[in-house]
This record gives sequence, C-alpha cells and structure tokens, in this order.
Amino acid sequence: MADAFGSCGTAELPVGKEAVNRLIKENKHIFSDSQCKVCSAVLISESQKLAHYQSRKHANKYRRYMEIHQGEDFGLPKKLKTVS
Ligand SMILES: [Zn+2]
Repeated sequence: MADAFGSCGTAELPVGKEAVNRLIKENKHIFSDSQCKVCSAVLISESQKLAHYQSRKHANKYRRYMEIHQGEDFGLPKKLKTVS
C-alpha cells in the first residue's frame, strides 16, 4: 500500500479494462466506476469509464492533482512539526 504512488511521474496510462479497474481500486478516494473526482467527470457507462481513465486529458489532470495534494490525502500525518 505504501508505494501505490511510488513511481514518480505516473505518466503511464492504464491500458485495458483490468488496468483501469485496478487504478480505480487503488484510488478509491478519488476514482470510482461512476465518477472521477479529479476531473469532476460523471461516467455513465462502462465504455465511458474506460475511455476516461485511459485518456491523456485525465492523466494530465491527475498528475496536476497529485502535485497539489502531494502528501495530504494519503493518511500520513506529515505535519507533526508545528511552526508557531
Ligand atoms: Zn479523470
């Protein structure tokens, strides 16, 4: 679980249904079968879902999202050191 986002860049797009489903499963907090929270996209059908998660547009937004939310969303309490 720790290295789900280990490979930096995440430039590779998922190819095929299995890769897409795995991606969704690994990123449940932002992806689902019916919605991509990163792109605010509603995915009304299986084919739309597959097309969306394999699209470069999505990959770009996702990468952007990861840059912004780096270290925030993944349950690691990194802010132990409080600056007062
Ligand atoms: Zn998306």
